[in-house]
Amino acid sequence: MSVPATAHTARVPPANPLGIHALVWVDHWDIASAELAIEQTARAGYALIELPMLDPGAVDAKRLRERITAAGLAARCSLGLTFDADISSEDPEIARRGEQRLVAALEAASTVGADMLAGVLYSALAKYSKPASQRGRRNAVDALGRLADRAASLGMTLGLEVVNRYESNVVNTAKDTLRLLDDIGRPNVTVHLDSYHMNIEEVDLHQPIIACGKRLGYVHVGANHRGYLGSGHLELAVLFRALVEVGYSGPITFEAFSAPAEPTGLFDTLAIWRRLWDDRGDLARAARLYMESQLVAARQAGLASGLPAAPTAG
Ligand code: MN
Repeated sequence: MSVPATAHTARVPPANPLGIHALVWVDHWDIASAELAIEQTARAGYALIELPMLDPGAVDAKRLRERITAAGLAARCSLGLTFDADISSEDPEIARRGEQRLVAALEAASTVGADMLAGVLYSALAKYSKPASQRGRRNAVDALGRLADRAASLGMTLGLEVVNRYESNVVNTAKDTLRLLDDIGRPNVTVHLDSYHMNIEEVDLHQPIIACGKRLGYVHVGANHRGYLGSGHLELAVLFRALVEVGYSGPITFEAFSAPAEPTGLFDTLAIWRRLWDDRGDLARAARLYMESQLVAARQAGLASGLPAAPTAG
């Protein structure tokens, strides 16, 4: 069989670490909840836990690191900014508070042992009523450049999560975000894509991943309704094939959110008003099996279409 001529330099990547967001397991964020989430993540067969860094002082980061290491897990951290601490604001005081929050989150993430701070780092995670201004965007670019330099000194990377129009006005597509990366101009700033948001803003689940190529640093996989993976209408096989096509070897993290029985406020910014699932363990195990089987199929498709296999580790 002849191998078709291709512009790809990618190889079928080695198996991606599979992650899960800590708030699948718990409805509060304190040390007891964090420890429970770590234990359950390992038990459900995941390799990585994503920790929310909304309030970096809420949990003892050193203790978290010990628990994560003992559980044999890797960690990534994420947050979204708020209107009162927003680096895309034209108000220098609000922008300064936003930058302080990012620095605190970055330092806590480093202490926890995370290799990346991800999420909506460039603006509030909220619905804006106007487009972002040039000056606001410039403030965000400048602050992210400084944060990236700080991250580099800690051996860390930033992932800018592309979210839909109801959750930011600074970037909503991979294309917007690649332009933002160009303006920031730091090699350790990457695009963080999420199928839930891609469903709303992108033409499909393939093209944005190809557009990002090696600048893709992190991937969230969630259903269009944020429930059981594969139970919605997204063509996730397309997404997994694109990840193989660009040689993405980074973590793939499952996100799902369901309204807690007793509202805690933690899910309000994401507009989680419905209960889509109750059995956390079943949801998590089902999602891991789903992602594993999607990856196996996508890797076989990549090999069949002529991508070279990954070099064996050693
Ligand atoms: Mn996400």
